[in-house]
This record gives sequence, structure tokens and C-alpha cells, in this order.
Amino acid sequence: MDRKALYDISYGLYVITSIADGRMNGQIANTVFQVSSTPAKIAVSINKENLTHEYILKSGVLAVSTLGQETPLPFIGLFGFKSGREIDKLSQCAYVQGATGCPCVTDHALSYMEGKVVASADGGTHTVFIVELAAAAVLKKGTPLTYAYYQEVKNGKAPKTAPTYKEAAAENASKTTEKESSMKKYECGICGYIYDPEAGDPENNIPAGTPFDKLPDEWTCPICGAGKEDFSEVA
Ligand code: FE
Repeated sequence: MDRKALYDISYGLYVITSIADGRMNGQIANTVFQVSSTPAKIAVSINKENLTHEYILKSGVLAVSTLGQETPLPFIGLFGFKSGREIDKLSQCAYVQGATGCPCVTDHALSYMEGKVVASADGGTHTVFIVELAAAAVLKKGTPLTYAYYQEVKNGKAPKTAPTYKEAAAENASKTTEKESSMKKYECGICGYIYDPEAGDPENNIPAGTPFDKLPDEWTCPICGAGKEDFSEVA
């Protein structure tokens, strides 16, 4: 089986939130799609290890915020690479509580929708929740962030609990460049973000062409916030 065939499936990027016993959490997911139109139902795949999964099971409600293409990497890092068991993610962003009580994240979102779980399927590591929508709102016009854009343009990577996670070897093999570069790339050992000197980190005022060892000491991973010491050279 050539697993690379799976890389051709396209996805968006969403913040999935839930609430249970008054506690809220959210996470990034790329697997959301519309199942039916009348009534409007969507499917969402969530890793069983995640705290959001626990909350969805308990309360049977979830919300989905569709992120725009301009979403900054640290925001994706907050929801994608940090655990709600350690930090209160919702205290760090704007949200509205709608019909289900779920916190619908509005920061960097083009739209959101929320509803009740009406069915679920055991997908092994993940549960696929079928959700009948109770409410939905468009916040602004814009281009939805796709998983492909995030990976290629923003240099992002999937956390290990994502359904699309690729083993590091396969990831590196697919990223070999023809051009030998004197400026080495460095990979974050926490989230897998690759610092590419040719691209710099413009969102954090690091101009293109800045070698890794010239980054200021206080520079941190734009996705997960890890320090320079957590980075290692990409072979
Ligand atoms: Fe990182």
C-alpha cells in the first residue's frame, strides 16, 4: 500500500470545542465535513486521547470554528499543540457561547457552527462524531485555511494525535530539496515545526535569510512556544 495516496485527500483546519461540567476545551482538527443538508449534519473525527474527546463524550455537544487563511501560527499552536489538561486554552481567545453552551471560538474564525452528537462511529484511535447542527453563524468573509496551505506555506506539521500524522522519516523524505543550502533548517522537537532560514519567521519579525544561530535567544517556536534549545538540525 502506498500511503502517499492518503496525502492527496484535502482538508480544512478547524477549532473543535466542547464543554462538560462547566469546563471548556478546544483543539485543532482537520477532519470535518458535511454529511447531510436537511437537517444539516456534519462529521468530525477526534482522537480518543484528547481532552476535547472526553468532553464531547460527556456532554454530547461540540462546536466547530472554521479558521481563515490569515490565522497566525501561535494560535494554531495554542489549540493544536498544547493540552487542555495543562492550560486553559479558552481563557486565551475570544468566543461566544451559543445554543449548546459550547464556546464557539471567534478569533481568526470565518464562521462557526454547533450542535448535538446524534451518532458516532469507532474509528480505532479516533471517534467520528455525527453532529446535527443547532446553530451556525458567518463572522466574516475570507478564504478558509486548508491543511495543504498550512503545511506548505506556513510550514506547519500535524501533531501525533492527528489522523493525518506522518512518521518523521516519511515526512523528511518527502521534503528533500534538490538545492543544497548552506543555511540549515532546524526542527522543533516538541511540535515538529521546521525553521527555514530562507523563509525566516516574518510573523515574529525575523526576516528571510536569518540563520538559526542568529535568531534572538528569546525567540520561541511560533507553533508551540518551545525555546531554541528544543530545536535540532534537520539532517
Ligand atoms: Fe514547536
